[in-house]
This record gives sequence, structure tokens and C-alpha cells, in this order.
Amino acid sequence: MTEKTRFIPYQPKTILNSHKRVDHWFWSRYSAYPYQGCQHGCKFCYAREEKYSPYDNADEFATTIKVKENAANLLRRALSRKPVDIVCLGDYQPAERKFRITRQMLEVCRDLGFPVFMLSRSPLILRDLDVLQQINHQATSAVAFSIISTPDSSNHPKVVKMEHLAPRVEKRFAAMQEIAKAGILTGTCFMPILPGICDDEANLENVVRWTAESGGKFVLASSLTLADKQKDFFFDFLQESCPELLDSYRHWYPPGSYAPWNYDWEAIALRVRDLCHRYGISDRMPRPIIPGDKFTVNKRIVEQLANTAYVMEINHKPTRIIWEYRKAAWAVEDLQTDIRLVYATMGIKGLQSIPGIPESIIPIVEKIIAGFN
Ligand code: SF4
Repeated sequence: MTEKTRFIPYQPKTILNSHKRVDHWFWSRYSAYPYQGCQHGCKFCYAREEKYSPYDNADEFATTIKVKENAANLLRRALSRKPVDIVCLGDYQPAERKFRITRQMLEVCRDLGFPVFMLSRSPLILRDLDVLQQINHQATSAVAFSIISTPDSSNHPKVVKMEHLAPRVEKRFAAMQEIAKAGILTGTCFMPILPGICDDEANLENVVRWTAESGGKFVLASSLTLADKQKDFFFDFLQESCPELLDSYRHWYPPGSYAPWNYDWEAIALRVRDLCHRYGISDRMPRPIIPGDKFTVNKRIVEQLANTAYVMEINHKPTRIIWEYRKAAWAVEDLQTDIRLVYATMGIKGLQSIPGIPESIIPIVEKIIAGFN
């Protein structure tokens, strides 16, 4: 029998997370979420980890939903004091039908001119397409759908068991089509690619193909992480529902490991990259342009440096070099002057004077700047 959902309204003191640096997947600087817990209850969900989850019992994560009833007011107050940048926002679990807090938060972003990035496992997001379009018209909006297998993949029944409370994948792809038709950047978060379940060639290709055929422009691939009580919860689930996989998972996730060990995750990411190229889409989300942003070129350079770091990572390049690219990306992101101006007035010395760009990356930055002139 399905346990009844319990909603606990409360009034948190803060809602907005301001990140020191934009993330290199979704390009967001801020995030804000209206609920704690998720009725979709996916068995692999990282949000059951202790650092995210306020529950003693991991089962409660899907049945006890804490509702931040003052979220929109808090968001309005917080954003009105912040520089405009992308907000990763919202949650379209079933609670949203009743409470409509994600919609209110979107309206705040629209009113204040903030761009948004939304990640959804539900077509309920289409209810708010009008606000997303208004935001896209004046700033920018982007929507990614969480999808890790397709109905024509052999392991799909296993995935359905793990996310049986979430809307069907076909409905998510249909919603993606609507979002794309509305002119909004959309694609797939292929996260987590579950080892031994979602990583076969046919499923990798199916997810990329369905995305491209649904108007999606990108597929972002990442592997499963497992920590503390979420790890125990997931292993218990495997024991009960897929016992044949348990030994492999114990091998890939030995005690103390968060990301998979003894497993070539990078090879999977490379396959996704190749497939994206074959289907004419990207394995990175294009960084949205914020109209009127005087640092657009800096942000484009950050995007190129971060994407290079990612490609190096999945090609097993030396960690030291990968980090040099990341540090350079952060340094250019932090710069409060148009980098072209710095280069035009002081040349290479100007680039060397920017704190944080490693010497080895200066010629790369110089070359990228030349591409913008
Ligand atoms: S929809 Fe997302 S947040 Fe909700 S349970 Fe699934 S993975 Fe977790």
C-alpha cells in the first residue's frame, strides 16, 4: 500500500543559495527550492544524503514534504539585492499542483528580470510555460528534463521500478517538445547514468536520439554518487528488487567511496559525447546569454575554458592541467572588467596581471580573445 503524503508547511528564514562561482553544468549562480523531500521518491536520489535531507528515516523523504510557504517573498527580498544572474529554481513534484510555489518563484524572477534554469522530472512544468516564455523574452530561460532511459531500452523496466512515482518518460519527452517549440533552450540531464543499468550502448544512444528528436539541444551526462544513508537505502533497494546487481554495486561502490570505483565512467561520458555529435546536439549546455550583460565575452571565454576542462577530464588528461583550466575559468568569471579591454590596453601583460590565471593558460586565453575580435 502506498503511504499517504504528509505536508508540513513552515517558514524558513532564507531561501536563496548564492554560489561563489557559477556551476559549469547549468551556468547558474543562485539556487532556490520550494520544498524539502520529493514525492517522486527516485531510489537513486542523492537528496537523501545526510547533508541535504532533514529526515532520520530515508523512507520519509518521499512521503513527508516540507513546504516553504514564504518562499516567493523571501526570494523577492533576496534577489532584489543581488546582481542579475541565472537562478536554478523550482520543483515540479505533485505538491506543486496544490501549493504553486514554484510558479510564484518564477513570477518573482520575471518581475525582477532574472534568468532561470529549471530541472524537471515532470511535464507539470508546462503549466508555467507562459511565465517561462515571459522570462525568456526579457532575460533567458532554460529547461532540462531528468531522463535516464527510454521505453525502447532493455533495462527500462528496472529504471521504471526505481522512479515509479515520477511521470512516464514519454510524457517528459513530449513536454520537451513543447518547451522547444516555445523557443526555450531545452535538453536532457542524463543523471545519474546507473552503472550496469543505463550504460549499455543502446540506452546511451536511445537517450541522445530521443532528445534530439524532441527538440533538445544537449544531453548532460553524469554518474551515480552514493553516500551515507542514501547508499544503505539504495543497496537495500537493490537487494530487494535487483539482487543480481548487488555484488557489482558493492564492487563499484566499496565502503567510503562516493563516486564509482573500478568503473570507467569517463568512457561512458565519451560515448555520450560522440553520440551527441552524431545526432547534431551537444554534451554541454550552451551558456545562456543575459541581455545587456557587459561581461558577455568574459562569460563566453569561461564557457570555453570550462568545456575544455570537461573534455580533458573524460579523456583522462592529467588532473593538474584540468585544474589549471578550471582556475583560469574562475579567474575570468571573477574579473570585473571586459577582458578584451585589459588585453587591448596592456597586451599579454594585462592577462598576466589578472589574479588566478595560471601562466600556462595565458596563451589559450589570448587565442580565445582573438576569436572574439
Ligand atoms: S525527481 Fe529528482 S529530487 Fe525528486 S526524487 Fe527524483 S531525483 Fe530526487
